[in-house]
Amino acid sequence: MENKKEMRKWLDDLGLDHPLVIAGPCSAETEEQVLKIAHSLKDTDVNYYRAGIWKPRTRPGNFEGVGALGLKWLQRVKEETGMKTATEVANRAHVELALEHDIDLLWVGARSTVSPFIMQELADALEGTDKVVLVKNPVNPDLALWLGGIERLYTAGIKKLGAIHRGFSTYEKTKYRNIPEWQMAIEFQDKFPDLPLINDPSHITGKRDMIFDVSQTALDLNFDGLMIETHHDPDNAWSDAAQQVTPDRLVQIMKDLRIRKESD
Ligand code: PEP
Ligand code: MN
Repeated sequence: MENKKEMRKWLDDLGLDHPLVIAGPCSAETEEQVLKIAHSLKDTDVNYYRAGIWKPRTRPGNFEGVGALGLKWLQRVKEETGMKTATEVANRAHVELALEHDIDLLWVGARSTVSPFIMQELADALEGTDKVVLVKNPVNPDLALWLGGIERLYTAGIKKLGAIHRGFSTYEKTKYRNIPEWQMAIEFQDKFPDLPLINDPSHITGKRDMIFDVSQTALDLNFDGLMIETHHDPDNAWSDAAQQVTPDRLVQIMKDLRIRKESD
């Protein structure tokens, strides 16, 4: 794939004076919860409001998302707050429903990027879309799988692209939920310098008190943005409770981060 400036035009066109911010709950739980969090984020630096509605949990038996119903809630978020919306898609049906409901940004989760079959299905379903599509790294530290997934989308004529670094599974227990392997992110930037790269400190750390430090490392490495899970009552969230931050904490994190400017 050639490195084309057009891939990052969607980001440059936003004309931001801060890193791109994608925030919102891990999962849409109820209409009230989705709207409450959205209203507390609407006058902040948040550019896209995220909420997972199809939740690929590692083990069955946990909350698996509210499904297509959540798309209507995200539409209300857009109407009431003006924020753009984002959700995860993992198959053709998800893509069709998300596009019908005018979701602005679709992301591919780490458990989908590992499968070239899924990536090809998504590329076919998204062919020619003008929505933004971001690809999370696969759960395993395989750079070629990550790049290959993005190439499939690019080949299908999807031009508003980007990647999300959410860390990698390991057998060993570490302080991280998913180890960052920063070197791989640097190699990624080397290979696709024009592709926006967003960091997801929530899934890297698994713990809200580590979010700031990982975000700062990412910005020091010139990442283009952050995706941070945000919930009005994190401890009682239906998924990923330990890593979500409150809207107030998110605003504080964004204020305290040192942003590296081109001239630095
Ligand atoms: C998520 O963003 O909520 C999610 C499920 O992430 P990942 O695919 O990185 O595990
Ligand atoms: Mn999550």
